[in-house]
Amino acid sequence: MRILQRKLAHYTEPQKVEKMGIYPFFRMIESDQDTVVTMNGRKVLMFGSNSYLGLTNHPKIKEAAIKATEKYGTGCAGSRFLNGTLDIHIELENKLAEFVGKQSALVYSTGFQVNLGVIPTVTGHASIIEATRLSFAKVLKFRHNDMHSLESVLKKCEPGRIKLIVVDGVFSMDGDIAKLPEIVKLAEKYEATIMVDDAHSIGVLGHHGAGTASHFGLTDKVDLIMGTFSKSLAALGGFIASDFETINYIKHHSRTLIFSASATPASAAAVIAALEIIRDEPERIEHLWDVTHYAIDNFRRLGFDIGNTVTPIIPLYIRDKLKTLTITRMLLDEGVFVNPVVAPAVDKDNTLIRFSLMATHTKEQVDVALEKFEKLGKKLHIISK
Ligand code: PMP
Repeated sequence: MRILQRKLAHYTEPQKVEKMGIYPFFRMIESDQDTVVTMNGRKVLMFGSNSYLGLTNHPKIKEAAIKATEKYGTGCAGSRFLNGTLDIHIELENKLAEFVGKQSALVYSTGFQVNLGVIPTVTGHASIIEATRLSFAKVLKFRHNDMHSLESVLKKCEPGRIKLIVVDGVFSMDGDIAKLPEIVKLAEKYEATIMVDDAHSIGVLGHHGAGTASHFGLTDKVDLIMGTFSKSLAALGGFIASDFETINYIKHHSRTLIFSASATPASAAAVIAALEIIRDEPERIEHLWDVTHYAIDNFRRLGFDIGNTVTPIIPLYIRDKLKTLTITRMLLDEGVFVNPVVAPAVDKDNTLIRFSLMATHTKEQVDVALEKFEKLGKKLHIISK
C-alpha cells in the first residue's frame, strides 16, 4: 500500500457508526425534494431540507429548466469569463440585482464558490494562487452575533487597511438573525465593508424575500450581498450583488468565477422562473412564517431547548453526540427525516437536530413530527415527562 492509502485505511469512524446502525449521512432519496420524500420505497416526512419556499418541483420552474435545456443544451462547457456566458445568465444577473436592490450582480456555479472567490478578491490579494492568497488576508473571528466581540476585533485592525465584516444574515444552524443595525454602526465607525451571506435569508426575510438587508431597511448600508440558488431559489448556483465598481472588479479577478464552468442553462432558467414565482405568489412566504411560528411555539411548549431561533431553521439542542445520532435514526424509523449537526459544524458540546420548514409544509405534517419528537424526546430524556 502507498503512504496515502495506508494513512486513509486508519479512517474508520464512519464504519463504526454504521455498525451501530446510526450513521446519518448520504441517506438516499428516491423522489423529488418535497415535504414527503421516498426513501427505501417508504414515504418519509422531510424536515431537513433547505428548500424554504418548496419550489424545487414547481411545474413552472421545471418547465423553464426543460425549455432552457432544449434551447441551450445541458452545459456551457466553459467559464463565464470565456465561452460560458449565456443571455440568460445576464438576464438572471439583472433580475437578481433588482431583487436584492443593488446595481449589479454576478452569477457563480455554487454559493460556496461565491464566498471562496469574493472574499479574497475584495480583501485585495487577487494576483496569486487561491490557497496562498487566502492566507494573506488576516482572518479575525468574532463571537456569534456578539457586538462587543466584533468591536474588539475591529479595534485590533490596523487603521487604513481594508476591513471586511462577513456575516450570515440568518445563521444556518442556530436560526437567529445577524444584528445588522449594530453591525452597520460599527462598520461606519471603523470604516469597514460589510458582506452578508444571505444563503438562508433569500426567499425568507425582507421585502418579497429580498434578504436580511431588506428586512432591516439597510440595503444601501450593506456593501455586498451573497446568495445561493440551492435553497429557496430551487436550483444550483450562487450570486454576489453590489455596486457596479465592486462587481466590475470581482468579475475580472475572482478565480472561482473565471476558472470554473458557468451555471447550467437549466439552473439559470430555473432561478429566473423562481424569482417570478416569489414575486407572484407572496402567500408562500406568509405560509412559511405561519408554520414556522407554529413549530417554534410548540417545540418550546414541549420543553425542547431551541435557543434563539426566529426563522424556519429550528435547532433542537441535544448536546450529546450519541443521543443526537440515535434520535435522528429513531425519527427516520418513525417516518421523519431531520439532520443531525455534530462537530465540526458546531462545537462538540452543542450537537443539535436541525429541523427546517418549507412553505409547502402543512400544520398537520408539523403535528406528526411534534408527536414523534415528544415521544422520543421523553424516551431519551431530552425533555422531561
Ligand atoms: N453560505 C451558507 C451560509 C450556506 O449554508 C451554504 C450552503 N450550505 C453556502 C453558503 C454554500 O452554498 P451552495 O450550496 O450554493 O454551495
